[in-house]
Amino acid sequence: MRNIYTLAQDGTAYNTDITKSVVIKGVGTDLKNNPSLLKRANKKVITNALVMALVDVAKECDDKDWIKKYWNTYHCQNKFISYKDKVYTDLCKNRWCSTCNGIRKAELLNKYYSELIKWEEPHLLTLTLRTVKANQLAPRIDEMVRAFTRIKDRCNKRNRRGKGMKIKGIKSLECNFNATSRWYNPHYHIITPNRQTALYIKQEWKKEWNKNGEYNAAEKGQDVSKIRNVEKGLIEVIKYGAKMLSDPDPNKKRRRTRGDLNGLSIYAKGLHVIYKAFEHRQLFKSFGFKLKDMEIENSTTAQSVGDYELWKYRIDKMDWVNESTGEYLTDYELDVKLEYLLQNSIDTSLY
Ligand SMILES: [Zn+2]
Repeated sequence: MRNIYTLAQDGTAYNTDITKSVVIKGVGTDLKNNPSLLKRANKKVITNALVMALVDVAKECDDKDWIKKYWNTYHCQNKFISYKDKVYTDLCKNRWCSTCNGIRKAELLNKYYSELIKWEEPHLLTLTLRTVKANQLAPRIDEMVRAFTRIKDRCNKRNRRGKGMKIKGIKSLECNFNATSRWYNPHYHIITPNRQTALYIKQEWKKEWNKNGEYNAAEKGQDVSKIRNVEKGLIEVIKYGAKMLSDPDPNKKRRRTRGDLNGLSIYAKGLHVIYKAFEHRQLFKSFGFKLKDMEIENSTTAQSVGDYELWKYRIDKMDWVNESTGEYLTDYELDVKLEYLLQNSIDTSLY
């Protein structure tokens, strides 16, 4: 257990004269007894370790803009302002930030759940292609986006002529990286309202990619399965891009229970290549329908408040410390297995 005494020994000078006011925005997060803050502390440790590795890779690749972007995430939620039992912070909103990613996923889940629950028999369709090397990833994704648009247009045209069904669904673009063979596997996960729609899109996908003597989409690379639990199905689809922790070879991944980190690694170069290829792209999209209530979120106005407390992140403590009282925000303790992984399993090699 950490206590204030430990911090006092570190000789930190506290700011006891907070007289200025500060601007807060949004609804804030509960300050007391809030497990989500503990999760944030854990995610910050993982994200910081990842972005440090990504900075190294970006330097090696001479991607100057990206060094800045990654540092930006390193400073994500460095300060919390607490005011009347709520805490407020600034978010970096980047895909490689575990917290910001989590918030984005929760928003998407809330937004689409009420629509999906109305669908008769939701199915999950996975569309893949032949894998590519790093330098072919961005052009491949461009081709995938164009191919899907062509499929949609074709099906809509047919449907208007009274042939073929109307297609709708939600799709997300994701990419796996295989560190063993160093290939990238960009693919779509699509939730469709029923099995027929999934089979129809699958057929069109194969047609689109296996023409003019080319063969890019094998039958065994495509998958259709019934979704038994809509919430779980949605969570599965909204991974938002790329997995930070991965098996060295996604084809030989082991079955894992929650919290099992054995054999997992963070492949910084692979992730950097994927984040670059994903830049300026909307990864999660619906097609064939629009949500009725497109309310604007986070419209809460900003307010200027005095009498607040400031909590600053201390990297050595892996926690936020109250500037005036020396209290810790979360009392977070790093799990030994995670500590081992972050120290030993971050691969920054460039290959
Ligand atoms: Zn962030």
